[in-house]
Amino acid sequence: MDLTERVKEILEKYYICDECLGRQFHSILPRISNREKGIILRTYVVMNSILKNEEIKFKKSENCYLCNNIFNKIDFYVQEIKKKLKDYEFNSFLMGSKIPPELICKEEDFWEENGVDFCEALKSSFNREIGYRLKNQIKKKIEFENPDIMGVVDLGTNNIGLQVAPLYVKGSYKKKLGKGKVQEVIENILVENSLASEPVFYSIGRLEQNVTTSCYRPFILMLRNPKKRKLGLKKIRERINKLKSISVSNLGYSDKEEIEKMKTEKITASYSITLEFNRKLEIKEIRKKLIGLRNKRVLQFLKKKTRNPYIRKLKVKGKNKKLIIEVESTVGFSVNSFLTGKSKPNIRKLIGEDFKIKEIVLKSYRKMKTHEMYF
Ligand SMILES: [Zn+2]
Repeated sequence: MDLTERVKEILEKYYICDECLGRQFHSILPRISNREKGIILRTYVVMNSILKNEEIKFKKSENCYLCNNIFNKIDFYVQEIKKKLKDYEFNSFLMGSKIPPELICKEEDFWEENGVDFCEALKSSFNREIGYRLKNQIKKKIEFENPDIMGVVDLGTNNIGLQVAPLYVKGSYKKKLGKGKVQEVIENILVENSLASEPVFYSIGRLEQNVTTSCYRPFILMLRNPKKRKLGLKKIRERINKLKSISVSNLGYSDKEEIEKMKTEKITASYSITLEFNRKLEIKEIRKKLIGLRNKRVLQFLKKKTRNPYIRKLKVKGKNKKLIIEVESTVGFSVNSFLTGKSKPNIRKLIGEDFKIKEIVLKSYRKMKTHEMYF
């Protein structure tokens, strides 16, 4: 069928706006906007009818049959979104929409009747139009994958929602005191600076309260709904490093993929444990009792979870009342449970006498080699 005939037939059956008329023929000369195309086609068909002395019998209505005039409201939506975006720092965005089901049904029936060969869907047409108009005003880039902010217009309720992508900050830290948690220190400062709604902390294995570190423990902090994305990490590092309990290093921005990598990497952790007994020790005897733990798994019950970390290395040294145990284990290992807790076996039961834990130091992490992973 001739293009003129097709447009005429549509306009005689339905009143549709220029945007909706143009988008039915979107892929013919797509560089001309749907609206312009709609105006051209409607005008041409009218002129043609006048020339042929035909009666013009177009449907008339206040509202576009296909879109309910939503394209007329785009500037209003753009202003509303701009108000909401004011509170946020971001580099990229994307606009999306929720189209009421009845409009989608109407559109599908309309295509069945009038053809779909050149058309563009209401949703993609609306999203693009609102996205470009917003872009021109706020001068930020549109990004289809992982935008900092996604704006969603619900055309059923007129609500506008923002989905803010999390901000990821990575680094590593040393815990310098054998009491208290330092994770909160990092979380609080970064939440304060990013104005995020919630922090989620990721790191390797566990670090118990009475453990200090002589190495840096890597971490990635996910900050949900951040309002700021440029945090001034150098200043934050300086501020944290003034504290006695912790020092941080290598602060930088990260992403979801790095968290996945951190979760799946096979790592071992080495600890140096210093114990103090009430009497002078028979080191040889104790060594005999403990050395059997090498290359064995221990069973640990931690907060209703059962784990069985693998002890790769274990060395025992001692003098007088002091015993030093150097142990390398796969991560997830609880040192305290291993010493005096519910671990099977555990050090207190193996030695058969009481001791004080003087110091536990996390000394290093090591990436396991492939051949070490299958024992
Ligand atoms: Zn329309």
